[in-house]
Amino acid sequence: MVLAGLSILPSAAMRPFAARYFAGEELSDAVAKLRELGAKGHTGILDILGENVTTEVEARGVLADYIVAAKSVKENGLEAYISVKPTHFGLTISTELALELYDQLASACSELGIFLRVEMEDHPTIDATLEIFEALRKRHDNVGLVLQSRLFRTPADIERLAPGPLHIRLVKGIYLEPAEIAFTGVEDIRRAFFEVAKQLFERGAFVSLATHDDILSAELEQLIQREELGSDRYEFQVLLGVREALWAVWQKAGHPVRVYVPFGRNWRAYSLRRLGKNPELLRAIVKNTFRRG
Ligand SMILES: Cc1cc2nc3c(=O)[nH]c(=O)nc-3n(C[C@H](O)[C@H](O)[C@H](O)COP(=O)(O)OP(=O)(O)OC[C@H]3O[C@@H](n4cnc5c(N)ncnc54)[C@H](O)[C@@H]3O)c2cc1C
Repeated sequence: MVLAGLSILPSAAMRPFAARYFAGEELSDAVAKLRELGAKGHTGILDILGENVTTEVEARGVLADYIVAAKSVKENGLEAYISVKPTHFGLTISTELALELYDQLASACSELGIFLRVEMEDHPTIDATLEIFEALRKRHDNVGLVLQSRLFRTPADIERLAPGPLHIRLVKGIYLEPAEIAFTGVEDIRRAFFEVAKQLFERGAFVSLATHDDILSAELEQLIQREELGSDRYEFQVLLGVREALWAVWQKAGHPVRVYVPFGRNWRAYSLRRLGKNPELLRAIVKNTFRRG
């Protein structure tokens, strides 16, 4: 309800609520944020905001922007890698186009010594995204994928992936999927995350545990300890603006914590998804409204 109201706000009115979730509109804002996080001991992930591009010209423009961003990571000596949504590279236009653009970016990143993450979006895009990832893995050793624990299909998808080194960011999944194909209860999604993490570790994968769930992370910490997993096997990943206090707890316990730093002008869709997850939102809106009044 609150979110529906927020989604019809003009960008200028929405921006105060959204600002904590992205570094700014320019690459220089993201570089500054990554540098600031680096000084606090965090590695980073650079993402250009945007999705669902509808023309090939636009998708190729996104590739050009990503190449500039990757060069900037290198030139500034940042401990960060690049992350791209398939529909930002034109997946909804054609799988071949998205694959071609990922392939070019993976080559550019490889020359710069930078890792590239293929993100995962809603369920109609999953088969094509897996196809792209498998093709990329044959040609590059600097690519990884995102998998979503809420989906029933994820354990079988892992089994179907070709043998070889595997670098997975495991998330619950931000897209609300139908009950026929996905867990919908908090407990079920949490349990599935834990089980998939175990499956990935058993397979020898490097797993980026991307969550802000302290109940889940406590279980994951026990698993890490029990299996004696080192920082060559896992890291925690978090989103800019979400539960910073938890990052500090993990860092103090000796876990690597990598922060997702999105930037760019297309911040609305991403920020709305983040705001939808923020329990403080209603309180913040009421406070802000009264303050303005
Ligand atoms: C680095 C990273 C990359 C991601 N990439 C993808 C991707 O490619 N595809 C995809 O589908 N999903 C992605 N996600 C999002 C993920 O799927 C979840 O939607 C998101 O992480 C919230 O789930 P959670 O595990 O933190 O658990 P939740 O149960 O949602 O949250 C745990 C706790 O964190 C708090 N919290 C969570 N989000 C917020 C917020 N925005 N503001 C304030 N408090 C919050 C909750 O209130 C709760 O207390 C990514 C997440 C991270 C951290």
